[in-house]
Order: sequence, then C-alpha cells, then structure tokens
Amino acid sequence: MAITVVGSVAFDSIETPAGKRKRCLGGAATYFSLAASYFTKARGIDMRGIERAKGKSFFWEGSYMDDLNQAKTHITDLNVFAAFEPKIPEVYADSEFLFLANIDPVLQRRVREAMPKARMVAGDTMNYWIKDHKPALLEVLKELDVLLINDTEVRMLAGKDNLVQAARAVLAMGPSSLVVKHGEYGATLFHAAAAKGEQPKQTFRAPALPLDEVVDPTGAGDSFAGGFFGYLAAQPEITAASYRNAMFYGSVMGSFACERFGTERMQELSREEIDQRFKLFRELTHLD
Ligand code: AMP
Repeated sequence: MAITVVGSVAFDSIETPAGKRKRCLGGAATYFSLAASYFTKARGIDMRGIERAKGKSFFWEGSYMDDLNQAKTHITDLNVFAAFEPKIPEVYADSEFLFLANIDPVLQRRVREAMPKARMVAGDTMNYWIKDHKPALLEVLKELDVLLINDTEVRMLAGKDNLVQAARAVLAMGPSSLVVKHGEYGATLFHAAAAKGEQPKQTFRAPALPLDEVVDPTGAGDSFAGGFFGYLAAQPEITAASYRNAMFYGSVMGSFACERFGTERMQELSREEIDQRFKLFRELTHLD
C-alpha cells in the first residue's frame, strides 16, 4: 500500500564520536521513505513529487559529541526549503496513508486537506513548532491518527513532566495514538482509548536494541516512523496487535539507521536482515 510523505530532503554534515561526514544525503522525508519502502510489496520510492527548485538545497549541520541521544544543531540553512509549497502530484492523490514529517504545521495541514482520501495520517513535529507555532500545530494534531515525537517534545507540548500525564494531555489534543520515542531507551505507545477509559493494558513499550556502537543517530526517529508506518500500511487490517508489531519494526529500523553514517545503512538493507533483527528483538524481550 502506498504512503505519501511530506518533509525535508537535505544535505547533512554530521559529527559524532565515530567520525564526520560532510554533505551526505539526509532529511526527514528521505529517512522515512527509505525505511518505509522495505515494507511495501514492490520496494520503491516514487520521487515524482520531489520538486527541484532553483537555489541551494536545505542544509543541516549537527553533532552528537556530548550526548548521542541529543543532536546539537550548528547550522540550519533553509535555502529553497524556506519557500517550500508542497505540490501533490495527481498520481499520489489516491494514497490511503499519509505521513506529515517535521515541517511547518501550516504546510502539514495544507497537505492533509489536499489528500482527502488518506484514511490514516501520522505525523511528527519538533520543539521549534511546539514553542513558537503552537496554534497551527494544534490544528494539525486534530487531524492525526498517530503522532510520533520524542519524550522531551511530549513534555513540552503538554507542559507536564510526568510522561503518562503528558501523554494523556497530548492525546486529548486530537491524535488517536501517540508514540513517544526515548532514543536509546526505546519507545512507548499510548492510545486515546486508554487515556479516556483507564485501560493501561493498551500502553505498550518497545525497547531499542543495545548496539555495540552508535555510529550516527541522525534519522533514527524518522527511520523508526518509516518502519512503524510502513509495517502498518502493509497490513490487510490494522488491529491492536499490528500496532505492537509496528512498534518493534520501528525500533528495528531505528537501530539500523544508527549503525552507519547518514542513510548508508538504510540504503542497503534486505527484508531478510529486517526480519532477522525483528526476531532478535523478540529474544531480547521475551520470557520463556
Ligand atoms: P531525526 O534524527 O530523525 O530527528 O532527523 C534528522 C533529519 O532531520 C536530518 O537528516 C535533517 O536533515 C532533518 N532536519 C533537521 N532540522 C530540520 C528542520 N528544521 N526541518 C526539517 N528537517 C530537519
């Protein structure tokens, strides 16, 4: 099943304790599509919707020298991204799945409105939009089936320190489900039904894989989202169990993203490697 994604395509310069890369391929939409593409029947990314505008591409430079869970941004050069007006090709109009990666919530909403046939919509955001563009973001949240953000962002959005209380407050803003990413500590899934009806059973935690070496965490969150949503989009029917599996597939793709710089690992995976790692996750968490 096809997924449409709107988000950044970028050149990234990255420094981590494992080394440096200058101007490698990056961007939220890039990581998301690469990760999700492994779950569609005919692996492929339809790039007809990528617009080649006159001028320089979006450029991001960051490092993770003090804390691998927290990118330190040195440069964000929006360049052509500053005037980005998403144009949705007609061939995308029938997509039933839509992912609104981290961009201006005004644009996220516009894309959602332009794709009325999307029956499942997931999205991401970041501290900048939460802090300074909250009214627009709140409009987007009403439209989402799933919001995927990290724990700092959940607390900031809700204005609450306790994660469960913060999750409940965010779910009250609109999304039916909330995936809270905890970097190397995994991710937690909350459902609105659980928030309202006190069914803690529905809350679910997936671990992250303890890795020998985190070479570069850039794109781990977007790759998680790609694995999570790609898996869901490929299911004949989406049930509570599919959400749980999706949390594991999200973690699987996030773990691969960290193993090499930029998109290097995401570009050369096989479905077998993904399934093997899924098994490893089961072993990591399963009681006999
Ligand atoms: P992640 O590590 O999953 O949060 O995403 C990293 C990607 O987000 C990088 O490849 C960057 O190019 C991209 N990125 C960084 N800042 C922004 C921004 N302000 N808007 C959109 N994308 C961004």
